[in-house]
Amino acid sequence: MDFEFSDAEKRFVEEVDEFIEENRDPEVMNVTRENMAQLVDTPGRRAFMKKIGERGWLGMTWPRDYGGSEGSGIYEHLLNERLASVGAPQIGKGVGIIGKTIIRHGSEKLKREFLPKILRNEIEFAIGYSEPQAGSDAAAMALKATRDGDGWRLNGQKIFTTSAHFAEWYWVGARTDFAAPKHAGISLFLVKMDDRGLTVHRMPTIGDEITNQVFFDDVYVGNDYLVGELNKGFQYISEALDLERFTMFTFSPIEKRVELLCEYVSTEERDGRPLREDPLVRRTIAQLVTHTEVARMLGFRFLAASMKGGAPPTCEASEYKLYATELSRRIADASMDVAGPGSQLRVHTEDAPMKGRAESTYRYTVIDTIGGGASEIQKNIIARRKLGLPKNF
Ligand SMILES: Cc1cc2nc3c(=O)[nH]c(=O)nc-3n(C[C@H](O)[C@H](O)[C@H](O)COP(=O)(O)OP(=O)(O)OC[C@H]3O[C@@H](n4cnc5c(N)ncnc54)[C@H](O)[C@@H]3O)c2cc1C
Repeated sequence: MDFEFSDAEKRFVEEVDEFIEENRDPEVMNVTRENMAQLVDTPGRRAFMKKIGERGWLGMTWPRDYGGSEGSGIYEHLLNERLASVGAPQIGKGVGIIGKTIIRHGSEKLKREFLPKILRNEIEFAIGYSEPQAGSDAAAMALKATRDGDGWRLNGQKIFTTSAHFAEWYWVGARTDFAAPKHAGISLFLVKMDDRGLTVHRMPTIGDEITNQVFFDDVYVGNDYLVGELNKGFQYISEALDLERFTMFTFSPIEKRVELLCEYVSTEERDGRPLREDPLVRRTIAQLVTHTEVARMLGFRFLAASMKGGAPPTCEASEYKLYATELSRRIADASMDVAGPGSQLRVHTEDAPMKGRAESTYRYTVIDTIGGGASEIQKNIIARRKLGLPKNF
């Protein structure tokens, strides 16, 4: 099997790297935000993404009919990985999750209204699936949508909606049929975030970032903002989640964290002896470097399977997400073990080991193993769909 990128792909990476150099800005590119660096949540980050849109890089895989260039998914992957490697915002949510679902299932009205704005990066979305009693079991969501004339009234609550405190539109799942089996009674809606019936409460996370609770009080949504067919929402959500599990958990930050640890080990001493000579440290590094290669390969497997067309491949997405995010935690644990008590000093502390990166990585990587579906859920998917094991609950 040939894992080399083609000449055209390598040239594209060079072009992206040049673009990154030309637009260097510490507020826009911040690796200490770890995986949350992907968010387009400040004016500087929005301006940066707008420039990416002007380059034609937001619709690289979209059909030409919707302003895209019908390129291979590998280019989107390469772009996102280069952006993630420097802590710059990435193209996952609007282009990947919402845009691609609208292209596959949305009405002409939704396509005309949202797709051009996504391509110009004029719009930010929040995604609302999780509720207090419906996290891992997203199909249990109970946000109530009741018919009202030509539209719907939404009442209830979402939780853990990242981006709700700055987004303009809410991509939200609601129950439209309470009598149907739980997977068959959910529909997807697009709701304006400035609706008077929406209340957003911020929730700080262990990783310095904000997620939100959102309360719906008689929020009206016209029928033309229903995405796809009524009661098919869970099918669309599942497809989008497969995409999310790959595009929103990029590989390059993992590689960079291992490189940082290797650099530290190669230059530091403990008790007068170079760390690189310690057999335990050497074994740890060898394992992490090997596991990092495994994560890279699992990413390629998702890419290869997704480029065959059709819906994103479920098992490959779960395998990558599970392995990559659990590896991130192992790297954070190892960085703290190897660097000792000083690694608990806060990120950006100049004289802390690795300037405190182990500390922030340790806090942020916990989140990655939960958001987008917890590790146990990925294991359930692999066990049932790939290994054919029976459902145990
Ligand atoms: C920082 C952050 C940002 C997020 N952003 C968003 C967002 O933007 N939009 C959104 O909709 N959601 C978001 N989420 C929610 C996320 O998807 C859920 O937290 C996740 O799906 C887990 O749900 P839960 O928190 O309700 O935990 P629970 O589902 O209550 O799970 C608790 C524990 O039980 C385990 N468990 C549950 N069911 C099973 C089972 N059947 N078998 C084995 N183990 C099981 C879980 O793995 C977990 O360890 C975010 C979460 C975090 C932490």
